[in-house]
Amino acid sequence: MTDTAGRETLGFQTEVRQLLQLMIHSLYSNKEIFLRELISNASDAADKLRFESLASPDLLKDDTDLKIRIGFDDVAGTITVADNGIGMSRDELIQNLGTIARSGTAEFLQQMTGDEKKDARLIGQFGVGFYSAFIVADRVEVLTRKAGLDSSDAVRWESDGQGEFTIEAADSAARGTTVTLHLKDAEKEFLDAFRLESLIRRYSDHIAFPVLLENPSADADEAKAVNSATALWTRPRTDIDDDEYKEFYKHLSHDFADPLIWSHNRVEGKREYTSLLFIPSNAPFDLWNREAPKGLKLYVQRVFIMDDAEQFLPLYLRFVKGVVDSADLPLNVSRELLQRNPELDAMRGALTRRALDMIGKLAGDAEKYASFWTEFGQTMKEGLIEDQQNRDKLLKLLRFATTKSESAAQDQSLDDYLSRMVEGQDKIYYLLGESHETVRSSPHLEQLREKGFEVLLLSDRIDPWVVEHLNEYEGKSFQDIGRGQFTLPDSDDESSQAGENDEHKAFLEKIRESLKDRVETVNVSQRLVDSPACVVVNDQDLTPQLRRMLEASGQELPESKPILEINVKHPLVSRLSGEGDDTKFTELSNIVLDHALLAEGAQLDNPADYVRRMNKFLLDLERS
Ligand code: ADP
Ligand code: MG
Repeated sequence: MTDTAGRETLGFQTEVRQLLQLMIHSLYSNKEIFLRELISNASDAADKLRFESLASPDLLKDDTDLKIRIGFDDVAGTITVADNGIGMSRDELIQNLGTIARSGTAEFLQQMTGDEKKDARLIGQFGVGFYSAFIVADRVEVLTRKAGLDSSDAVRWESDGQGEFTIEAADSAARGTTVTLHLKDAEKEFLDAFRLESLIRRYSDHIAFPVLLENPSADADEAKAVNSATALWTRPRTDIDDDEYKEFYKHLSHDFADPLIWSHNRVEGKREYTSLLFIPSNAPFDLWNREAPKGLKLYVQRVFIMDDAEQFLPLYLRFVKGVVDSADLPLNVSRELLQRNPELDAMRGALTRRALDMIGKLAGDAEKYASFWTEFGQTMKEGLIEDQQNRDKLLKLLRFATTKSESAAQDQSLDDYLSRMVEGQDKIYYLLGESHETVRSSPHLEQLREKGFEVLLLSDRIDPWVVEHLNEYEGKSFQDIGRGQFTLPDSDDESSQAGENDEHKAFLEKIRESLKDRVETVNVSQRLVDSPACVVVNDQDLTPQLRRMLEASGQELPESKPILEINVKHPLVSRLSGEGDDTKFTELSNIVLDHALLAEGAQLDNPADYVRRMNKFLLDLERS
């Protein structure tokens, strides 16, 4: 819709409308972050222009000192944030300030609960950006001219944040962007030089461009430089305090929460670069979205080159945020060139080790590490599959729920486990299952638990894959107690499984015969105490968890039968062994098998058959 003045009215994308509403509601107690976001955009715009001017120096014209100017007017009730950066064309303006381009946004917005605290955290993970201006302003104007375009191509954007915005040609404008906030009546407190200056300092001290505060009562050229205008990572570590690192992280990640830890390093010698890596407190909403932006912000000789350079860290460390500033890469490096650059492998290797060392350091703080593991534990487990080179470092960082931990929390390390190993124990035991509850109450654990052996309880979706890569730790191999032959470490030859099998040979043969269509074989178990039976898989077979997942994803798998293990000390099994009637023997052995399958969370192939058998058995019980 275009009016007579040539002003076009457009609607915000649905997601923008939702975000605007949620944001104004839930971020009220963090409202001053609008300044951080606008300064951050201005600094990005300056970064982009500097980058583009490498190839086209003309873009800078005679306005070569990139800077950010902040002004306020207490009569008009406005704050302006102006930059002489890259600016926006009309189309870019409509695209950038009318839509959200991130995939998964709609799903993300659906997670909002209406609970202010929770939503604030969620929005923090999403990043609020430009739209945060509407937390304090009831009208926002943007005047912009893209570098390289004529002053007649300047555009004006305006909105009250209610659902629509207008766009029109502007008379003229300098290169770059000026954002003017018309503050809500209740937000006039921001029109104060002292307040503004302290906020600006907090949000801009680490930015590489000068940020000037213009006082309305003074001349424009008396504007005061508020920040030191040196990029934070270029300063020596000892000169930077924790708050500055935290603010820089927030600028970089748009997060609200402080980072858990960071690592700032300068590498000199053959290869020269500086890296500053952060671990966020919370996982981003799209950690599991393949298309989500990930990677480090890349600078070459302090010139911003690109966001989300994925090549510097492996995929499983996609939650690490940070900056890498290389002295050696060419300024015109592109994503394609990065992929082919042999230098990069070495940098990637070194940065990966740095990140893992930083996480290792975090592990020294049990509380922080527990929260790290809750957020990123699943992602870290991918590392065992993806990054064999750092296996040893990664194994140390893993945390598990075990039979000796009180809750379902994954808070025990392999070192914790080793320190509790029982005399004579030479293996690290684990058990896979569908859920923490199923594994924790699995019959497979009974003997081990009784004898004081600890077992790692694995129920994450990724665990069946992870265990394929757990070979050994500190000279101890891993053993899945849900599969294969199992003999307790303190057994002598006679009480070994083979010995016990010999002793009950005839009985076992009889069960094997009656269950031959359903099981591979039947053995006497060394795992059980209270349960009559359990099923285990052959060493060569897929774990039932993996099998179920692969089947669910539509894969055809060759049939495989489980092994039934029986507890010869259990009354039900004694009863079976004393059963003279062949039909009843078959029925009861089937029930024993059905129950073993159910206990490990499996689905019965023929539940109706089971119910029929069970009903009959119960009736017989009553009669006898
Ligand atoms: P983000 O900065 O995370 O991309 P924002 O909501 O802050 O998200 O901004 C959206 C987009 O609007 C930016 O990516 C940028 O393209 C554009 N933009 C915002 N402010 C400016 C500015 N001052 N100069 C040029 N472009 C800008
Ligand atoms: Mg932004």
